[in-house]
Amino acid sequence: MRVTEYYNGLIKNNRAILGKAITLIESSLKSDINKKDLLISKCLPHSGKSIRIGISGTPGVGKSTFINKLGELLIQSNQKIAILAIDPSSSISKGSILGDKTRMPKLSNHKNVFIRPSPSKESLGGICESTKDSIVLCETAGYNIIIVETVGVGQSEILVDSITDIFIFLTLVDNGDEIQFIKKGVLELSDIIIINKCDQNIQKAKYTKLILEQNIKLSTHKKQTVSICSALKNTNIENIWSEISNLYKEKNKSGHIEAKRKQQNVFWLNHLINTEIQRKMKTSQTIQTLMHKLKKNQSGNTKQIIKQTINKLLK
Ligand code: GDP
Repeated sequence: MRVTEYYNGLIKNNRAILGKAITLIESSLKSDINKKDLLISKCLPHSGKSIRIGISGTPGVGKSTFINKLGELLIQSNQKIAILAIDPSSSISKGSILGDKTRMPKLSNHKNVFIRPSPSKESLGGICESTKDSIVLCETAGYNIIIVETVGVGQSEILVDSITDIFIFLTLVDNGDEIQFIKKGVLELSDIIIINKCDQNIQKAKYTKLILEQNIKLSTHKKQTVSICSALKNTNIENIWSEISNLYKEKNKSGHIEAKRKQQNVFWLNHLINTEIQRKMKTSQTIQTLMHKLKKNQSGNTKQIIKQTINKLLK
């Protein structure tokens, strides 16, 4: 397909073409690079108008159940929702193991919903530049709420926060997660923390909320909220949506969204530079030889070897 065909399809909200355009964006073929760049630059003027929401949490916490319920609520008010679900298990199979139909059955056939499970290519929970560009494509196709779902592993929370406006972290009642994510710095990143599966033990859920709120007061300066819900029983989903949309409105009015998106561009420039350096280090035979020399070298001139390696990288 030509770039104009992709573009015209996106403008007309053709879901099949949106799917194909994302496949193009995810392609690692060198021959697709120019096409990708051209398509994104054509789409950029149409982008930026959606609420971009990142949702993370450990496997089994209830992310897809929650998104399903949230989506069902949003389609009632004619919102157009795109869900980009990053599937970390698929980096081995190179394809998506869990299809959208099994994970979000009620949403997957709705005309105002686009669901895209993507294989994760990077180890950091799968968020990579292609996810960032997929958001641009979805916005061009008219979706006004974009949800990026990823599993909370490694640095994935930082990366999902680097492409979205509002970051939501889902956790459980009694698995000690509240202590874990303070360690990982996820608490600082989150705008909204949701304690899911409250139907299993409402008292413990309330207690976890209390602990988290105390921690927030002590350790972060930004406005954050903690909510309790049961995605399965559809409890409190409407209130959580009010929280999300109010927070977005507030942040938009204060210029925070614009400032965050600008910071994100800088973050991604750095990320891409680092990725390129890592790639070069892995693929350059000369650098590999120098690294090998460095490992073996105990008393020799290591400075000289490091200098040679840097020179090679900069070439
Ligand atoms: P994900 O891996 O984070 O996407 O989790 P899923 O949405 O696939 O949910 C994992 C399991 O937890 C499924 O069996 C869900 O039915 C169940 N589940 C999700 N939300 C709730 C909830 O609020 N309460 C209860 N009791 N179970 C839930």
